[in-house]
Amino acid sequence: MSIKCACRKNCVTIEDNLDEKVKKLRECENCLDITIKKFSPLSEIIDLNDIDSDYKRCECGKRPIDIVMSHILKIMIEEETVGKKATLRRNSPVPLSDFYYGDLNPQFINKNTLILIHPDFNSQTAERLINEVPEVKGVLKGNPSSTIGQLNKDSKIENYELLAGCDIQSNVMRTINGDKIIINKKQSQHHIEVAATSERKLVKLHNYLENNDIKKGTAVDAMCGCGILGIYLHKYGFEKVIFNDIYPEAIENLKENLKTNEITEGYEIYNEAFEDLNLKHGDLCVIDPYPNENIDEIIKKAEKLADNVIII
Ligand SMILES: [Zn+2]
Repeated sequence: MSIKCACRKNCVTIEDNLDEKVKKLRECENCLDITIKKFSPLSEIIDLNDIDSDYKRCECGKRPIDIVMSHILKIMIEEETVGKKATLRRNSPVPLSDFYYGDLNPQFINKNTLILIHPDFNSQTAERLINEVPEVKGVLKGNPSSTIGQLNKDSKIENYELLAGCDIQSNVMRTINGDKIIINKKQSQHHIEVAATSERKLVKLHNYLENNDIKKGTAVDAMCGCGILGIYLHKYGFEKVIFNDIYPEAIENLKENLKTNEITEGYEIYNEAFEDLNLKHGDLCVIDPYPNENIDEIIKKAEKLADNVIII
């Protein structure tokens, strides 16, 4: 299986061979681990003029994460996104990888793999980051702690703004059954959640199913987002999985992920507000709520939809 994304670099996020992909994330025997002091102003530790696209790059093509982040911060200082005394700890953007596999967290970074999020980016800085820092694949403007997507029909859609590059991220989750679930998403349209977090949710769901006597009839993934919980329920053996999300982009994303995970039947898709969802009573309703959302109303509604309700 191979997924190409539509960015100008046409980067491939998952290649045919997952082992090969993972191997490429590991440092080579010549990669040097270089750490930069995080709490001191960067300009007092390194001469910023020394940092260019080849600075401390290993012959294998990778650079240590601290070097890449220093290069990024140097440009942010020059563009006055941050002050002259900026430190890696206080002023770095959130760096996300375009590929997560379980809890793998690469410390040596390949070219065209990082997606950056910072509230004060502008187009000019974004263009410079894409053009001058080879590791950067996409630049997003926004608050990393924002609730991204659409909460309910009264709330407006909140996205990160894609200023430059490509924001497609792939996550490969291992399941207890030995399956793998692949979820691709546009990071601009999704809250930050990496594969390791999703895997923990899948374990919780799996344990709930194993410890409760639930008929594998109809399951509802009521606020499905890009579809991970529902896809798991489908693989777990439910006859029918109902996917719903109010956010149209999430539904588009879900359809791609069903294809990627080779699911062609045994599901229905709805694009409705959770409170408006009108379905035949099912066996299970799974809810993965936004943080700080009022759970009471959601549970009441979920209990109308199914015999068993689990909040993940
Ligand atoms: Zn190397």
